[in-house]
Amino acid sequence: MLDEYSTELVNTVTWKKDPAAAMKALYAEWRKLFADDKGQFTIYGPVGCEKCSGTGYRGRVGLHELLIGTDPVKKAIQEHARVAELLAIALDEGMHTLKQDGMEKVLQGVTDMHQVRAVCIK
Ligand SMILES: [Zn+2]
Repeated sequence: MLDEYSTELVNTVTWKKDPAAAMKALYAEWRKLFADDKGQFTIYGPVGCEKCSGTGYRGRVGLHELLIGTDPVKKAIQEHARVAELLAIALDEGMHTLKQDGMEKVLQGVTDMHQVRAVCIK
């Protein structure tokens, strides 16, 4: 999942400068945020019961992607930057894509990758 998450970041300045270091930093951040005290991640899958008609899911949860109009983002828009360039700038500014938000929710045990992939169609 780390690879899939990072494919969203390949055009960012941070990633281009040193992909190995960026990957290491991302993994360290994930461990801090989502791993248990032994550094283990838990990925949940649906089990299902009578209450959920065997689906293993209950309710809905939103995946979000918010482009903040920071100065570098505004500049890129004014200069008619290409979408890929604007995305890279926004990601460098701290934006998370819809899919990245989904993957963070997978790591939190809120949903699973099957559900994330179902809604993150490019
Ligand atoms: Zn159930």
